[in-house]
Amino acid sequence: MKISRKVSIVLAAASALAFGPTSLQASERNLDAHEHGVSTLRLAQEGKVLQFELEAPGDDIVGFEHAAENDAQKSAVTNALSQLQKPETLFVLPDDANCTASDQHAEFETEEDHAEFHVTWTMTCENPASATSLAIQFFGIFQRAEEIEVEAIGNAGQAAIEVEKDQTSVDLSQAIGG
Ligand SMILES: [Zn+2]
Repeated sequence: MKISRKVSIVLAAASALAFGPTSLQASERNLDAHEHGVSTLRLAQEGKVLQFELEAPGDDIVGFEHAAENDAQKSAVTNALSQLQKPETLFVLPDDANCTASDQHAEFETEEDHAEFHVTWTMTCENPASATSLAIQFFGIFQRAEEIEVEAIGNAGQAAIEVEKDQTSVDLSQAIGG
């Protein structure tokens, strides 16, 4: 039952987002599960509010997966976090949707063998009916990244979409609506 599994993942993400990121949630996430080259972007709409969560392997973003050990690695992590703390500039909703970003949070999480960047943010849209596509600037900034798996749920339904490196936008109309 592939479809119901996807739904439960998205719903779990939506409820986790509703309560905000916590250290408990972070420690429960299994970084072993990620595939290098593949980030996950979850998106849950409730009316005018779109909550986003991005998980990106450290390898895709800075080229290593451990705590920064020298100045070059520290500055790579700092630079990546400063980009990821403006996630609304990496994943851009249409102007017509009239959205405002808030609650941006980005962190670098390391485990024994893997590390990930975990980013959450909220977009509040005056016109969510127009929030049906997302321009992808992520690959232009993080050139080691290959793919994003987008899981979206909202007023129009739900969608699971694979976005490849050469794509510049993703259609969210199956999930997001007014
Ligand atoms: Zn890894």
